[in-house]
Amino acid sequence: MKHNFGAGPCILPKEVFQQASEAVIDFNNTGLSILEISHRSKEFEAVIDEATQLVRELLAVPQGYSILFLQGGASLQFAMAPLNLLPEGGKAAYLDTGVWATKALKEAKKFGTVDVVASSIDKNYAYIPKGYSIPKDAAYFHYTANNTIYGTEVFERPATDLPVVVDMSSDIFSREINVADYDLIYAGAQKNMGPAGVTLVIVKDDILGKSGRVLPSMLDYQLHINGGSMYNTPPVYSIFVSMLNLRWLKAKGGVAVLEQENIIKARALYDEIDRNPFFKGTAAIEDRSRMNVTFVMDSPELEAEFLALAKERNLIGIKGHRSVGGFRASIYNALPLSSVNALIDAMKEFEDTHQ
Ligand code: PLP
Repeated sequence: MKHNFGAGPCILPKEVFQQASEAVIDFNNTGLSILEISHRSKEFEAVIDEATQLVRELLAVPQGYSILFLQGGASLQFAMAPLNLLPEGGKAAYLDTGVWATKALKEAKKFGTVDVVASSIDKNYAYIPKGYSIPKDAAYFHYTANNTIYGTEVFERPATDLPVVVDMSSDIFSREINVADYDLIYAGAQKNMGPAGVTLVIVKDDILGKSGRVLPSMLDYQLHINGGSMYNTPPVYSIFVSMLNLRWLKAKGGVAVLEQENIIKARALYDEIDRNPFFKGTAAIEDRSRMNVTFVMDSPELEAEFLALAKERNLIGIKGHRSVGGFRASIYNALPLSSVNALIDAMKEFEDTHQ
């Protein structure tokens, strides 16, 4: 059995892949593939309705919020958020916690003034800045909840009275959140929700229509709301597989149950990193991500040796991102505790054979 610690795209339970593959040949005994049925058919309408309902239920999305399945990835949201929320000549506040936050704020700068309230670039984004102040005259405050590359996570929504926009691409559905704390949540699907190609957007209806901008249709949230995420041909397969995965999540007991499992998995791995003299974590302890665990060794040859052992033990995708080096173990919802234990066993074995 392979243990997939890859950061994406699309780490889902095997049973979801099994159901997804069956529907490519024969979707619900229609004799047709899910890929060929009309996206306007009642069969596909049932899929998108169920996917929407599952998001609403699993995250307890309150009334007054719309749920959208869009294309363009989280990267398109970097532009769509300011276009929809920032008036011409307006200002937005951004917290800079890494590559994705930087990309988001660079896009916003194309449409107005950006106030970077704090940045952790001084320590290669190994921590989450605290104690910054957010200007009261900004149109919104944007932050990245989980920094996939650096292994840091913001667990509590920063305190502000401004509308809050959050990129939850790599931690949505991994822990309970209070949707009412946010005005716009977006997430590329491809970590805990489904395959690449669909982006989840949860938007508070009454923040829209205030930027005064003339928007291209595809970049206008309101138009997508009016069209029920079907203004144009939606990414049917990505939505379908996301729906299957959300069913799996619900059957497991929902986000609260997954959160407990994720806490146990992350704690076990961080405990071993802290105990084992060959490894050390790269993120500030209080900001450690439960989704992406980043760690290094003292010497590069040892890292190559550990990677070789990991390969032998079927531990896939643990090489760190080039901007941090070392290792990154992504421990998304679909990765079982037994896989985390397999990695811990390999770390112990390495220690035993290198004393
Ligand atoms: N934001 C975060 C936190 C990410 O981890 C990623 C990709 O890994 C992105 C944004 C970019 O997402 P996409 O490739 O869907 O544009």
